[in-house]
Amino acid sequence: GAADIGVIGLAVMGENLILNMASKGFTVAAFNRTTSKVDDFIAGRAKGLTILGADDLPTFVSLLKSPRKVMLMVKAGPAVDAFIDMLAPLLDRGDIIIDGGNTHFPDTVRREKALAEQGILFVGAGVSGGEEGALTGPSIMPGGNPEAWPTLQPIFQGIAAQVDGEPCCDWVGQGGAGHFDKMVHNGIEYADMQMIAEAYSLLSGVLGLSAPEIGAIFEDWNRGELDSYLIEITAEILKKTDDETGQPMVDVILDTAGQKGTGKWTSVTALDVGAPANTIAEAVFARILSSLKDQRVAASKVLRGPDAMGEKPDQDAFVEQVRQALYASKICSYAQGFQMMELAAAEYGWKLDFGSIAQMWRGGCIIRAAFLDKIKAAFDGTTELSNLLLNPYFTEAIGTSQTAWRQVVAAAALRGVWTPAFSSALAYYDGYRSERLSANILQAQRDYFGAHTYERVDKPRGEFFHTNWTGRGGSTASSTYNA
Ligand code: NDP
Repeated sequence: GAADIGVIGLAVMGENLILNMASKGFTVAAFNRTTSKVDDFIAGRAKGLTILGADDLPTFVSLLKSPRKVMLMVKAGPAVDAFIDMLAPLLDRGDIIIDGGNTHFPDTVRREKALAEQGILFVGAGVSGGEEGALTGPSIMPGGNPEAWPTLQPIFQGIAAQVDGEPCCDWVGQGGAGHFDKMVHNGIEYADMQMIAEAYSLLSGVLGLSAPEIGAIFEDWNRGELDSYLIEITAEILKKTDDETGQPMVDVILDTAGQKGTGKWTSVTALDVGAPANTIAEAVFARILSSLKDQRVAASKVLRGPDAMGEKPDQDAFVEQVRQALYASKICSYAQGFQMMELAAAEYGWKLDFGSIAQMWRGGCIIRAAFLDKIKAAFDGTTELSNLLLNPYFTEAIGTSQTAWRQVVAAAALRGVWTPAFSSALAYYDGYRSERLSANILQAQRDYFGAHTYERVDKPRGEFFHTNWTGRGGSTASSTYNA
């Protein structure tokens, strides 16, 4: 065969990745379940390029150089298993299958194990950046069978986004680590988006600014520490006018958010591994609440907000406070994402390099942002950083912005402006920095009603005590009833 790699799945992502690979000098074989799409692609966008079409799977496989590399860019789920089942008998030991779709990481763990038994190296690679990223340079997060990496590295790092000469792609880890990394990326993306929406609603609700005025403020913010793709596109979105009505586009778009479920995976997984990713989960709940539009419309006629709104704050001062609140909240959601990866790595036995993960998110993907340089620097300097907030840069950044942040959250609460992500990020900060929390009360309650026992401040950790609170309960502690 002549092809360096083969790609199956000619929808937006697959086609654009193939064109990207060809533009970097690779020869690529292309296949799709509906084979008419192969013919259309070869006669259309792929015309004259180093792209070879195949009308059946054996031909496709015969086009590939050994060890064969087959990348699946098909709908996540049964389509991936279907293609693996058809490909495996056609491949040799040492050949590589890569799933580049938005697969939930437990599926990748399962497939990697099953294929390893047949001598086939399986890789689950998260790909971010949408259609345009796929074409011009996505962020790629590969994980799975590490034996596959040396063979894949030149292609993946060659087609990935580059920032300061460094590719936004590196080996993440074994098993499902690549897809896990992509999942956390998406959770952080949910939180980033929600926080930007909250900044918008504060500037509009408290200051009464119009969409294009807020767009200009975001454009200004994009020149500072908030410099990021999502701030940039939101500035453009806010300035766009609807052709039909002449109103700002955002004012004619219905306020019900959709989702495809990756933020939910992140939140459920955070609960599974015991990670306090409350801001990421809050962003998912925010979308869910927004989608209950009919209930909200009805409730808005019944449930009262605050009576007095107070005076409108000074515009420039409030804009700056919201900017700082956004930055502080953003730091917390990233801290939660990295903390979650650390806890998951311990649970699943992965060795993750967080500096390298920050570099992979630095360009190409939806959450790309200048401040990921600071995150990379924070983790590059040490192997023992249990929380991003404890890195001196971030400790200082959040310490200086906290006054503004608290004022914004307070103003939102007093005026009844909905800011779930800002508020939950602040709750995370205040919880994480507390030497003593109110969980002593929870332990006392649990021991009172269920004899669940507690530890004491004046005794070593791991020694458990039970109190007969009522004088009726006796001294038997429970280990079965868990509430
Ligand atoms: P889609 O998710 O829409 O999937 C379409 C492709 O899957 C087509 O090639 C289709 O073949 C194939 N397919 C669907 N069902 C089956 C099946 N049962 N058996 C065989 N083939 C099947 O395409 P996208 O390009 O949008 O995404 C590809 C992957 O990349 C997905 O996992 C997606 O989540 C992920 N992704 C997408 C991004 C985006 O911005 N769109 C960004 C990052 C990742 P056919 O033509 O025959 O129907």
